[in-house]
Amino acid sequence: MKFKKIILGCIVLMLFACKQRTIVNEEVTAPKNVILLIGDGMGLSQVSSAFYFKESSPNFARFKHIGLIKTSSSREDITDSGAGATAFACGVKTYNGAIGVADDSTDVENLVEIISSKKIKSGLISTSSITHATPAAFYAHNISRRSTEEIALDLAQSDVDFFAGGGIRYFNNRSDEKNLLNELKEKDFTIDTTALSDFSVIQSYSKAAYLLADRHMPKASEGRGDYLAKATELAIQFLSKDEENPNFFMMVEGSQIDWGGHANDGEYLVSELIDFDDAIGKALDFAEQDGNTLVIVTADHETGGFTLASTIKKREDGSEYSDYNDLSMTFSTNGHSATLIPVFAFGPGSEEFIGVYENTDIFEKILKTTKWGKED
Ligand code: MG
Ligand code: ZN
Repeated sequence: MKFKKIILGCIVLMLFACKQRTIVNEEVTAPKNVILLIGDGMGLSQVSSAFYFKESSPNFARFKHIGLIKTSSSREDITDSGAGATAFACGVKTYNGAIGVADDSTDVENLVEIISSKKIKSGLISTSSITHATPAAFYAHNISRRSTEEIALDLAQSDVDFFAGGGIRYFNNRSDEKNLLNELKEKDFTIDTTALSDFSVIQSYSKAAYLLADRHMPKASEGRGDYLAKATELAIQFLSKDEENPNFFMMVEGSQIDWGGHANDGEYLVSELIDFDDAIGKALDFAEQDGNTLVIVTADHETGGFTLASTIKKREDGSEYSDYNDLSMTFSTNGHSATLIPVFAFGPGSEEFIGVYENTDIFEKILKTTKWGKED
């Protein structure tokens, strides 16, 4: 009897010790900054292409915690970027085309809104217009992604601290004849419509906006240069510059991986993917040295049904064979597909991102690991 009691006591003690350890661990691993990188239309074959076509080692190889997400929207098996980004930004499944609203069209609070009251800064970067569906879900609420001018108005009224992308026309060439560049200035933004600057130039600004194209940014292969990697680095420096409030959330989108997929243009797709990988490198470099930053890389959906297939060749006798040493970039659709999408995570909290789960869980996991959703 006494022996049994001792055993029982030992078990209770062991359980207690385990519980204690878990609590301590949670406190140690709460990240202070989050960088979410979204490769629009980036499925596993798109990621794989970096391992075959990038001359240097892909930054994707630097992650140890990897998961898969299910991307279906509330009404369709195959999502669009509006519903896909709303899942990440607001944590709800909604209908295709929706921006920051639930399936019943009501507004849903987004990550930028949740953190702004906590003095955590936010930044958004894209290679499309900054009003395009993916970045829009992080600051706007609209029943349709096509309401671009209304979406631009939401950006001017949001609490975003840094943004970079295209889309000037939706701010200064509008049907309501408003000039939203003035509204942005009233909200303490310094706006540059020519080029990204060095950090030394913008260090003293309170908010920084870059609108660098009339609509979308040019293709990587047509003069965009290292814009995405440079904007990522610049935003990190800018958002972490204040010693009192150095913490931030940032979303970086490789928008045009999707467009290479829609066009069934392998070269376009791969050049955009490699450009996106360069931006991932900047985020990881900072996170490695900072130690308090969680980096998450994922996609809203896959585009094109992209495959790295073997190439069909003909022998001298006319018979066909598959050359397994010659990759052929092939596509099965001009649209999106329903394939599961990889998630790569690095830094404190990254263990949370392994497994197979819904795209809305990205939002939940960010709030869980950072505790940003909790009342102060
Ligand atoms: Mg997009
Ligand atoms: Zn698309």
